Amino acid sequence: MRIGVLAMQGAFREHIQSLEALGVQGVEIRHANQLEGIAGLIIPGGESTTIGKLMVEFNLLEPVRHLAEGGFPVFGTCAGMVLLARDIIGSDQPRLGLMNARVQRNAFGRQVDSFEVDLEIPVLGEEPFHAVFIRAPYIEEIEPPAEALATFKDKIVMVRQGNLLATAFHPELTKDLRVHSYFLKMIG
Ligand code: GLN
Repeated sequence: MRIGVLAMQGAFREHIQSLEALGVQGVEIRHANQLEGIAGLIIPGGESTTIGKLMVEFNLLEPVRHLAEGGFPVFGTCAGMVLLARDIIGSDQPRLGLMNARVQRNAFGRQVDSFEVDLEIPVLGEEPFHAVFIRAPYIEEIEPPAEALATFKDKIVMVRQGNLLATAFHPELTKDLRVHSYFLKMIG
């Protein structure tokens, strides 16, 4: 199985390493023609405005949206979560806009720019997941069929909507591979 990792900007190499640790080939995606033959796509953390602009420039936004609307699995982390959300508070930046979610960027404020916390994520089992948040967004509101898989201080930080998965944190920066495995199980 080959999984694409959008390689416009941001933490794409770390996702490829996580995939490889699970015995799956990660493929850097920079052009629409590279989307052929991959089983799913990861959109990494980085700067969502930059990644979105580059997706427009490289003609990737429409093809990825089209695939995802047809059931193609997409997993967004942090900036990737922002790009998946339908509503981005106070911003009209380019996005895929596929998830029934309203996202607030840089949501945890300056005092706690970055932090790490052990999160309860029931779909991953009993052991908490050590989650790294870096200038992270959170989701203020979702509508079905989107469902919250994890919350931190009443804010939604992990969401699934059918073939779409998003985390506000960076599972690719830790050795715990359970979020990536969960995505691979979604692909089936
Ligand atoms: N603050 C960034 C944004 O909104 C996301 C940060 C990250 O991906 N670590 O695009």
